[in-house]
Amino acid sequence: MTYTILIIDDDATSVRSLAEILSQSYKVQVATSGEKGLTIARGTPKPDLILLDVMMPGMDGYEVCGQLKKDEATRHIPVIFVTARDDTEAETKGISLGAVDFLSKPLKSQVALARIRNHLAIKRAQDRVRLLMLSANDGILLIDGDTWRILEANPMIGAMLGVEPVQLVGQKWLDLFPQEEQTLYQRMITSQLASDRTPLPDLQMVTKDGRLLPVDMSVSQTSLAEERLIHAIVRDISERKQSEEKNARVQAARSAVGQLLQAALEPTTLDEFLEEALAAVHSVWWLSLQQRSAIFLLNEESQELVLVKRYPEDAIILCQRVPMGVCLCGQAAARRKTIYKERIDKDHVMIGDLAQTHDHGHYCVPIIFRDHLLGVLNIYTDAGHPYSHEEEGFLVTVANTLAMVLDRRELNDKLVRAKDAADAANQAKSNFLAAMSHDIRAPMNSIIGMGEMLLDAPLDNEYRSYVETINRAGTCLLALINDILDLSKIEAEQLSLEQIDFDLPELITNTADILRFQAVSKGLRLVTQVDSATTQWVCGDPNRLQQILLNLLGNAIKFTSQGEITLTVEGDKEMVRFAVADTGIGIPQDRLHAIFNPFEQVDNSTTRRFGGTGLGLSICAHLVRLMGGSIEVKSILGQGSVFHFAVVLPPADKRHPIVSKTDGVSENLASLTILAVDDAEDNRLLLRAFLKDSGHDLHLMDNGQAAIDMVMQRKFDLILMDIEMPGLDGFQTIERIRLIEKMENRTPVPIIATTAHTMKEQTERLFQVGCTLHLAKPFKKKMLLDSIARAVPVYKKTET
Ligand code: ADP
Repeated sequence: MTYTILIIDDDATSVRSLAEILSQSYKVQVATSGEKGLTIARGTPKPDLILLDVMMPGMDGYEVCGQLKKDEATRHIPVIFVTARDDTEAETKGISLGAVDFLSKPLKSQVALARIRNHLAIKRAQDRVRLLMLSANDGILLIDGDTWRILEANPMIGAMLGVEPVQLVGQKWLDLFPQEEQTLYQRMITSQLASDRTPLPDLQMVTKDGRLLPVDMSVSQTSLAEERLIHAIVRDISERKQSEEKNARVQAARSAVGQLLQAALEPTTLDEFLEEALAAVHSVWWLSLQQRSAIFLLNEESQELVLVKRYPEDAIILCQRVPMGVCLCGQAAARRKTIYKERIDKDHVMIGDLAQTHDHGHYCVPIIFRDHLLGVLNIYTDAGHPYSHEEEGFLVTVANTLAMVLDRRELNDKLVRAKDAADAANQAKSNFLAAMSHDIRAPMNSIIGMGEMLLDAPLDNEYRSYVETINRAGTCLLALINDILDLSKIEAEQLSLEQIDFDLPELITNTADILRFQAVSKGLRLVTQVDSATTQWVCGDPNRLQQILLNLLGNAIKFTSQGEITLTVEGDKEMVRFAVADTGIGIPQDRLHAIFNPFEQVDNSTTRRFGGTGLGLSICAHLVRLMGGSIEVKSILGQGSVFHFAVVLPPADKRHPIVSKTDGVSENLASLTILAVDDAEDNRLLLRAFLKDSGHDLHLMDNGQAAIDMVMQRKFDLILMDIEMPGLDGFQTIERIRLIEKMENRTPVPIIATTAHTMKEQTERLFQVGCTLHLAKPFKKKMLLDSIARAVPVYKKTET
């Protein structure tokens, strides 16, 4: 590498001799005046060293040197003064101006060359360091460790702060930081330098135009020839800070929307939800909005926006109802676009009393779900607040989320309304069925009861067969009504099961006995097999279990013309499995599933050929499900069917007799004094007929008040109480009787409610008012006698 040396000298002879010495080792440039020399030095490529004459006409060497050292571009070029003057004062001045050396004329060429070589070597080393400083991507400061003044600054720190690096040289380091932070920073830097290993936190520097620049700074300390030096490496982190802030903003916006969605999942009212929504908007730290907002929802009929929520509760919101297209909200709604106004202007028409209104701005964001306008979100800003794309973006997201949730809520409300309507319709149906079944059951009571009484009378065979037909038809009709009522109870979720202990094998035997005659008369065998491992005493609802079994066995008998019907029972600890198998007509595969639906039969001819309504299996399936089990059927056409079902029947805790155990007890009763109350003459007649031969002393009353009067006058062993009566009904009458008993300190008399009502609420209410037993109409003579036996206290029964 060849160095270039610039000679600035007006003396041609001197220049020549110098050039002669130097040109053997270096490239030589010559300038004959200070001005020319400066021009060459400032141009490119730059000389590596300047030999500068002191005495020159025009600009002298000192001035040239001063200029060179002032200029960032040239201050690094070493300057050696060459002069004939040999005085200490001149030398000192030159050195103080920044020159590195002084050569006296006439030059001793070897000495001069050696010193020039030395300075070039030093410059080269300095250049390398300078290059490092120049090319560094970080700002580098070299600071005096005692005064904390800047000694060196690289171009990067200058670029960061918007100044020339030379301008920084000599400045107080701390002045680069914000005034209010300087003391704190000084403390932190000092402790860092005293070998505190924790890095400095992110700092801020002040740029030339007063901006705050976030920086990451590391500092360390060295000593150089007893001089304490601090170097600081400074990195501009504004991009990182920006992206961090951006992330934090996005995060805040997301969490507000998340809060909104969370609120949507809570079982809140619309009002609470909207309040949460507005609170979520205002929780976002970077929105520079007023803490005031409102939500308007569209009234489809009047095409007006109606204020439904303000935030906070006491915020002054000037409009309550805004027609579409009017004022800002109306315009945002009509145009389906966000409107931003930074202050009140002519578009802002619904401001009411201007005197009360502080100037303000608005974001009005339409709330739209799938093209369907639902309302407007209105946020207040300070007057003159500049529009922000980011703010609008966030508010639109909020409005869209609101729209989605509001739409979902509307849909839910519709569903709830539809369900309520369906429930009401279902309730009406249940009520109708209850009323209808009551109205049919009451006369059925007379028909079946009287028929039964007639059969006890001496009739010739022809009349007997007529009466039997009446009874059969009546029983059939009653079964149908019971089925319909059961189904409606199941549908209205009105059906509840009893939990009582009963003897399972006995129930099976009783059930088979009921149908045995029917089977035998068709030439069929009816077999029951109870596995010996089956628990005898179980806890459940024996009546409903019997209903299922009667249904399945009844069907099996009905659809079988020859062969046998088998009922098998086997159980483990909790579940008992039943199977009813027949050798009948079977069921086609594609109908196996359908027959469990209400009113479904295998085909249209079933009713005609076999009778029935198609309700039985549907009720069975429901009952089995209520008992925690399931039912299924397997069948081969022409060979027979097997119905399997399993129900939960846990072993009973205590053994005590079930209802059927009282059968026959009635015969052993002592004579009782019975008061029977019924407004229907037919029923009173029937009661008299049923109890005619029982030996009981019967007193009949046709209304509640008369019954109460009787109870006040004398004691009864039992009361039979009709419920639906004009005047005081059964409920009221029972209540009053119980009250009289309490006041007079009497032992409560057993009361049997005889009613055609079987709905759950009715029966529950009966027991609430104090009835002892419930006997559903229509009832047969034996049922009445058995109920009486069950109701009267034990001491009344005769010893047997
Ligand atoms: P119903 O017997 O009153 O018609 P069910 O619901 O008890 O009503 O039965 C529905 C239908 O299922 C019957 O009509 C009949 O077609 C068919 N079914 C039920 N049990 C049997 C059986 N054991 N064998 C053949 N078909 C049967």
